[in-house]
Amino acid sequence: MPWWATVVAMTMLVRWGYVPFMLIGINGAAAYLGAVHASELWAVALIITAVACSFAAERLLPYRREWNSGLEDAGRDTIHAVVNETFILASVAVIPLLAAVMPFHSWWPVGWPFVVQLLFAVLIADFGITTVHLASHRIGWLWRLHAVHHSIRRFYGLNGLMKHPVHQTIEMAAGVVPLILLGLPVHVASALSVCVAVQLLLQHANVDYRVGPLRSVLALNEGHRFHHLKWAGVGDVNFGLFTLIWDHLYRTYAYDAGRRFSTDDLGMAAKPHYPAAYLQQLAEPFRASGACQFGKADSAAPISDYERR
Ligand SMILES: [Zn+2]
Repeated sequence: MPWWATVVAMTMLVRWGYVPFMLIGINGAAAYLGAVHASELWAVALIITAVACSFAAERLLPYRREWNSGLEDAGRDTIHAVVNETFILASVAVIPLLAAVMPFHSWWPVGWPFVVQLLFAVLIADFGITTVHLASHRIGWLWRLHAVHHSIRRFYGLNGLMKHPVHQTIEMAAGVVPLILLGLPVHVASALSVCVAVQLLLQHANVDYRVGPLRSVLALNEGHRFHHLKWAGVGDVNFGLFTLIWDHLYRTYAYDAGRRFSTDDLGMAAKPHYPAAYLQQLAEPFRASGACQFGKADSAAPISDYERR
């Protein structure tokens, strides 16, 4: 096979195979290992594998090559990722302790096939997380906490875990507390934690992958780039974590196939000098300068031509 044919084959493999590999391969492995009640450590191993695959795919088929280069943010983002992922996995470890005192713990559909239990958990978590995410763009004190996530200067996989830990805790609680009340088994919770990590990587990946018409149903990077447009109001679209079902219902779905994104489109137009260091980002929501500044959109923003439904 000539070298150019190898390049074309590799490009097509990543473009169309990356999302199925992550959603069916990695999440499928999580479902299998959860179903057989394997040691919880497998969740950590799968998440590390997913991060490695994300970095590899970003280098094989980047959406924008310059977004693969750090802007003195790689170390900070790694701290955000390790801290926030540790919180998620630690909360999974607490679930067996909670199970004994949950009032409706017998309501969980333990008789369903494991993968169906996992999909059920994903859909319920998706509703709570998406709704709190939307509220975080509407309610001042939540926006203070969420602004950390919107201060990105480039769009790549680790952005998904670049969040204020208090905001992540509130968002995740909205998704997971209803499940815990129903008696979410710890093995389903472990598999769900892998699904969340995979989704955050996919949603922010600097990978030019495609999913065809599924882009209007699955909350992936083609739609999520619109969410990170920097102008107030304009980025208030596509809040979904796993799906865009709730965005269709909330009338916050937006997509324009012709829209391309550059570094200048990202971040927050009203807060161009948001702190970049980790500890400063933790403190910023509690400072006067961390207040929301709605209504200061750049009127020259080239954003009027994409479709809202
Ligand atoms: Zn947001």
